[in-house]
Amino acid sequence: KKGILIIGAGGVSRVATVKCAMNIDTFEKITLASRTLSKCEAIAEDIKKNQKVDIDVAQVDADSVEELVSLIKKVNPKVVLNVALPYQDLTIMDACSKCKVDYVDTANYEHPDVAKFEYKEQWARDNQFKEAGIMGLLGSGFDPGVTGVFCAYAQQNLFDEIHYIDIMDCNAGDHGYAFATNFNPEINLREVSANGRYWENGQWIETKPLEIKVEHDYPEVGVKPSYLLYHEELESLSKNIKGLKRIRFFMTFGDSYIQHMNCLQNVGMLGIEPVMHKGVEIIPIEFLTTLLPDPASLGQRTVGKTNIGCIIEGIKDGKKKKVYIYNVCDHQECFKETGAQAVSYTTGVPAMIGSKMLYKGIWKGKGVFNIEEFEAKPFMDELMTQGLPWKILELE
Ligand code: NDP
Repeated sequence: KKGILIIGAGGVSRVATVKCAMNIDTFEKITLASRTLSKCEAIAEDIKKNQKVDIDVAQVDADSVEELVSLIKKVNPKVVLNVALPYQDLTIMDACSKCKVDYVDTANYEHPDVAKFEYKEQWARDNQFKEAGIMGLLGSGFDPGVTGVFCAYAQQNLFDEIHYIDIMDCNAGDHGYAFATNFNPEINLREVSANGRYWENGQWIETKPLEIKVEHDYPEVGVKPSYLLYHEELESLSKNIKGLKRIRFFMTFGDSYIQHMNCLQNVGMLGIEPVMHKGVEIIPIEFLTTLLPDPASLGQRTVGKTNIGCIIEGIKDGKKKKVYIYNVCDHQECFKETGAQAVSYTTGVPAMIGSKMLYKGIWKGKGVFNIEEFEAKPFMDELMTQGLPWKILELE
């Protein structure tokens, strides 16, 4: 086995593929496969021009285990990186276990017909992965991904006990449109319009969509309204960070975004059930996705910064301690380097780093794992040199 097979050719894939090409000494050989071959070819052409690295391309329908198995057998890679959509997680995982190849992804499985995401079905493949003698690394993006690594780093190096974690996700980028989403609109709008949820004292507490709002001061960005959302890393971190009392997730949204989303919600445009329109069956949110700007096209016009991090409180040497670990990314710098904006960048870089941890055997295991289950230091070191440097502030 040799090389990495990357599946999906959207914004995140563009960044992950460019970053793998920058690390070609590690990955040896790169194959990029997706539903639309021309998107793979466009990324490969840019990489050939800018980095002088050759990338193989292939067409695949990742909803079909059969097609995936024949592609994986042909390419014979050491690692498969799934940066298609969450709907493809299970088929790609099953194909990897059939072919006995390690698996990495950035988002947990979501059923196309039910707006609910959870790790259940991916964790249920643990035995299947153990039997195949392979490793699956789930959620190696930024959130989930780097946020889990920050928490693991704090647990392993900064605290004796961690009690409270707030994950703070700020995108202060401005693309100049009244309304657009920075990544796949369907996934984004389903996440934001769902009920909020956080974990406290062993229980899940549900809130109405966007019910809890705080004004938070993001270092190097400023004060931004931030809303409590359910986010998938809460499920694994509440299990894996021992002694935890509460974990929450907040994300910033501008007023214009919220107004548009509420309006679209009220008129039924976020619906995931088919409706009949002039004799044709359409799914409202899919039609909306067709109308909205392609997230990949936002890169060029987006200016401003992102700041994603974790505020962690607990005890060290008998004393109370609170730290803020975060990364700041600049949309235009990301675009200059990879041709994609910071939301794709902050996901694609950790997808490459997670794949590198497996490829080089720095992280080893048989079964299905979340990112915080490993030693964080080598991943943190890679973040520093691969474009996502982090800082730690000690808070009062
Ligand atoms: P895009 O929609 O830009 O790209 C998705 C790609 O997957 C497209 O190239 C699409 O093909 C391809 N694809 C979809 N269905 C299939 C299929 N059946 N077979 C083969 N290829 C398929 O999404 P992003 O790049 O923004 O996001 C990629 C992933 O990253 C998503 O899972 C998303 O949830 C996750 N993500 C994770 C974050 C994190 O921090 N952890 C943050 C942001 C995103 P086509 O071009 O033909 O449509």
